[in-house]
Amino acid sequence: MRIDLHIHTSPRSSCSHLGLEGLSKEAKRLKLDGICLTEHQVVWSPEDVEKLAKEGDIRVFRGNEFTTNQGDILVFGYYKDIKELLTINELQEEVKKAGGYMIAAHPFRGFKTFGIGQLQMTVEQACRRKVFEFVDAIEIGNGKLADDENDMARKVAEKLGVPGTGGSDAHRIDEVGNWLTVFEKEIKNELELVEELQAGRFTAVKGN
Ligand SMILES: [Zn+2]
Ligand SMILES: [Zn+2]
Repeated sequence: MRIDLHIHTSPRSSCSHLGLEGLSKEAKRLKLDGICLTEHQVVWSPEDVEKLAKEGDIRVFRGNEFTTNQGDILVFGYYKDIKELLTINELQEEVKKAGGYMIAAHPFRGFKTFGIGQLQMTVEQACRRKVFEFVDAIEIGNGKLADDENDMARKVAEKLGVPGTGGSDAHRIDEVGNWLTVFEKEIKNELELVEELQAGRFTAVKGN
């Protein structure tokens, strides 16, 4: 089951230029079986998601992308808006209570521009980032990142023995599906999505 786990739509994510018009149809054209709407700090209502799913005859799931003191975290199975900045500890506590799942989003975004020290960072050093102590998985394929930034995330996930997810982080329609997560089983609802994530039955794959 091919799912793009990381998509931002307008107007719920103010940075996005991706309207709902045609989104689920485009996902279908790309042979995706599902998409996850992961707006910044805001969760979709189940009714709106249902409407979008019907329109494109595709599964639509809700997630969320929270900004913490340790970077952006994709969260599944936790359906609350959070307006204030949370520390990673606070977020983890909330998500654990809800039985949810946390993924470090684009952990090495911009690592080439951090300067020479970061460029020479070894995988061992990269593994010591605090954020990795709190997450269940690492996004190893993000459509907005350069290949070497994704590669570093992949190496870190392998070294730490943590599963890796893929998602486009689309903010425009032509970005949808350029990274995705392929699940082994069919996923019919959000509960099953969290179950399959927790079971680790998935692989990150580069899309179109
Ligand atoms: Zn982000
Ligand atoms: Zn994002």
